[in-house]
Amino acid sequence: NPVPDYLAEVAEACASLTSGEPASYIPELASVDPDRYGVAMATIDGALYSVGDARHEFTIQSISKAFVYGLAVRERGLTEVLRKVDVEPSGDPFDELSLEDGTGRPRNPMINAGAITTHALVGGDGVSSAGRFEEIHRLLCDLAGRELSVDEEVWASEMSVSDRNLAIAHLLRSHGIISDSPEEVVSAYVRQCAVLVTAEDLAMMAATLANAGVQPVTGQRIFSGHQVRHLLSVMLTCGMYDSAGDWVSNVGIPAKSGVGGGIIGALPGQVGIATFAPRLDPHGSSVRGIETFERLSHDMGLHLMEVA
Ligand code: GLN
Repeated sequence: NPVPDYLAEVAEACASLTSGEPASYIPELASVDPDRYGVAMATIDGALYSVGDARHEFTIQSISKAFVYGLAVRERGLTEVLRKVDVEPSGDPFDELSLEDGTGRPRNPMINAGAITTHALVGGDGVSSAGRFEEIHRLLCDLAGRELSVDEEVWASEMSVSDRNLAIAHLLRSHGIISDSPEEVVSAYVRQCAVLVTAEDLAMMAATLANAGVQPVTGQRIFSGHQVRHLLSVMLTCGMYDSAGDWVSNVGIPAKSGVGGGIIGALPGQVGIATFAPRLDPHGSSVRGIETFERLSHDMGLHLMEVA
């Protein structure tokens, strides 16, 4: 099979990149091995290929935002969710207090303000924050096709520096966008970000999106085709925050990055791809991951705007 050989070739070329630093605003993330690097690719029929540290666990962080947005839309319907969170690229960093003038609606569900909002939309009225986390955890396990655990150290570490996310949550509540206690919402949102995944898990999760919402291995339908279409659109325009434009021109695949060092990309009808490498660029996205996606997209003609 030529795929693993090709992935190994790309990985070797990208491994020479040593710029960037692991996220340090979350103290526990600063202590990860910065040279870890893994790449995984899952096709919509469930074939999985990977190289390097693709089975090493790390925290999902903001990649969870994409899936939790899908969950909020699945539970509440798009119309209700859009009343609380817009779908416009903000052009701002992920932790910006970027809210629409007047309404207080976050610009999109991929920045923290929007993700805290979609997190709070999960679960019926009166759900506890633990119950909400349980539902989100179940979703992530179903997408990966295995049981995932939580990195308690990373969770506690981020909780000790969560002033900014708390400020965002307070602001959201002052606008009536969320109604629960900001402390509880942020605590469970940070827990959602601390779920441990591997690049192989993420490739399967992305392949579920590429496969119109059906997990390729377990066959479970997790999202409808319509929900996935919407989710991928928002990932394409907002998933890479203030470098989304660069990403769309160079890579052209709906994607989401996380400060744990992961990036996912989902190409509709074809593959889910995931990379893991902790050194981040100034936007909070993995340096080697971006280079890997650029190469894969170029070599395999994956860019959505590619005219055959
Ligand atoms: N948990 C992180 C935060 O809320 C996620 C940020 C990210 O991965 N970009 O700041």
